[in-house]
Amino acid sequence: MSEDQTYDLIIVGGGPGGLSAGIYAMRAALKTVLIEKGVAGGQVTMSDEVDNYPGFEHTSGAELSMQFVQHAESYGLEMRNQEVTEIEPGLDWHKVHLDDGQVLQAHAVILGVGGSPRKLGIPGEDDYYGKGVSYCAVCDGFFFRDKTVIVVGGGDTAAEEALYLAKLAKKVYIAHRRDELRASKILQKRVLDDCKIDVLWNTVLTEILADDAGVVGVRLKDTLSAEERTMDLDGVFVFIGFEPNNQIVPAGIKMNADGYVMTNDNCETAISGIYAIGDLREKTFRQIVISAADGAVAALASAHHVEMRKGSPDFCEAPADLLA
Ligand code: NAP
Repeated sequence: MSEDQTYDLIIVGGGPGGLSAGIYAMRAALKTVLIEKGVAGGQVTMSDEVDNYPGFEHTSGAELSMQFVQHAESYGLEMRNQEVTEIEPGLDWHKVHLDDGQVLQAHAVILGVGGSPRKLGIPGEDDYYGKGVSYCAVCDGFFFRDKTVIVVGGGDTAAEEALYLAKLAKKVYIAHRRDELRASKILQKRVLDDCKIDVLWNTVLTEILADDAGVVGVRLKDTLSAEERTMDLDGVFVFIGFEPNNQIVPAGIKMNADGYVMTNDNCETAISGIYAIGDLREKTFRQIVISAADGAVAALASAHHVEMRKGSPDFCEAPADLLA
């Protein structure tokens, strides 16, 4: 394996966690590469408003991400826009396989690959995705100007996205399966005070109805009375949480029942030198600042791990069979 395929640290994922790790790693003089298959900044780039990142009283996800990227670039962090297909753990060297067949290796690997929107799993959801069914208000809200939409979910994301949609749509309904929102109190107040938003309490969707042109309505069920009814509307926005993107997490790394990676306080997984950060990692609260903090912790722990590997008596530079 050549010099340019060998690193101290490989960071997989370019969200707030990965970029924060990149900044800390470069400051610790680790030879580092960050690999991101999509847009640097990750899912936060889809957030219209971010009001709780320290130092930024009010900003957007796109703006904050740009600042993260510029900060990481200012330290000369190498970033590759590629997909990682496999992580192959080793003793001294962990190998990272890329979609073009290249293999990189590093002493430490930080996984910050986040999660993806959870689906409702009801009839019509997959069939009408892109034809009225969406998982991103910032991306698709424009198509629903002066139309009626329903947001599904009661968490921070559903609340924030409903508020965004209320700026464009004629009417926004929120269907929530309970009688109380999970969202933070400040977001709950904004949602309940918005005259364009009505919350349908104790309500779930059982089917998405459509014609050839796309979504025309939904079938709703009252979770208390089990009564069903249909409602005419133009769009369905689903925000019922995330599922961890754990497909490339190597065997031997422990995950909880929901598929989140379990780590110690240093974000280190069951495999020495492999770390999990941000939304991939088991934790109680999921916030941008917490992902960034995970990234910092994992990068500092990686620096210590790399130093230990290089100082270890059984350490050898790139293994001979990899140098070909
Ligand atoms: P979440 O907090 O897990 O909320 C998911 C919501 O969807 C809950 O209200 C849940 O209902 C509902 N739900 C789950 N499965 C459902 C189903 N099958 N059918 C109907 N409803 C279902 O997810 P999130 O809102 O995406 O937030 C994820 C994390 O990111 C949270 O930690 C959140 O605080 C954080 N976040 C923070 C901000 C911010 O601070 N600005 C913004 C966005 C997200 P129940 O309440 O009944 O469980």
